[in-house]
Amino acid sequence: MNPDAINRTSSETQMSQPRLFRFAPSPNGPLHLGHALSALINRKRADETGGRLLLRIEDIDTTRCRPEHEEAIFRDLDWLGIGWETPVRRQSEHFDAYRNALMRLDAMNLVTRSVASRREIREAAARAAAAGNPWPRDPDGAPLFPGDAAILDDAEIRRRLQDEPQALRLDTKAALARLGDAPRWHETGFGYDQEILADPLGWGDVVLARKEIPTSYLLSVVVDDALQDIDEVVRGRDLYHATSIHRLLQELLGLPAPDYRHHRLILDEEGRKLSKSIASTGLASLREAGATPADIREIIGFEN
Ligand code: GLU
Repeated sequence: MNPDAINRTSSETQMSQPRLFRFAPSPNGPLHLGHALSALINRKRADETGGRLLLRIEDIDTTRCRPEHEEAIFRDLDWLGIGWETPVRRQSEHFDAYRNALMRLDAMNLVTRSVASRREIREAAARAAAAGNPWPRDPDGAPLFPGDAAILDDAEIRRRLQDEPQALRLDTKAALARLGDAPRWHETGFGYDQEILADPLGWGDVVLARKEIPTSYLLSVVVDDALQDIDEVVRGRDLYHATSIHRLLQELLGLPAPDYRHHRLILDEEGRKLSKSIASTGLASLREAGATPADIREIIGFEN
């Protein structure tokens, strides 16, 4: 991939049309201070570039997402003074688009079926580590999928392939081989303004569709960023490494590459990422305790 191509595309878009941004929360719990920072930076980038901010509800996980959390997202963003455009894109209404993308990858022979569960992979990794053989891990720290045959016997694999729903995974090595060179992306977070070389192999064979959900975060986010013509993805640094897979999928599917700005995270006192289950950093509970939008900006160190 020629890095100039990315620069040329993004600067042309900037000159001719308003730059498009998106804030893309999942309605699986209440928004917290980290979401507030992300939404505020998105709004600020849209305003300072004369751009537009879209809101996308990432609710593919129908087992965990709830309408009341979606309502709360609208309330919290409104209270913070974040304007967004309507209609809001709800991912659960677009499973067909993700299925199409999956079928295109399958037609390239890049999709494999797998039956081992996450728990089985974790347990195999723990057994190996206990025996003194550390297991490779992805950038998020999860053990890499070693292939079903490394964990289960042939008969069990055959039985599950026949009787049970399967996860669909990307054959990441074959995908990268198909492209030749690893893709790059234009990063403006961390104070950078530079091209980053993607490292998709570090993720192993990632899940594109789960047993119970016909897509995955990795797949649906690239389909939607393209369908919504997003020019600049502004999100937390916890998703920095996932960009390697996003860029790989974009190249395979012939989708444009947005610019990326991965912003700092808000951490708790122990230095951990905020969790949706901790009420003390939730926007609604802070509001109920009397905090104002200005207080929220101050707590997260957001200066206009
Ligand atoms: N839905 C993701 C989240 O709530 C964000 C996805 C993204 O910005 O790419 O963490």
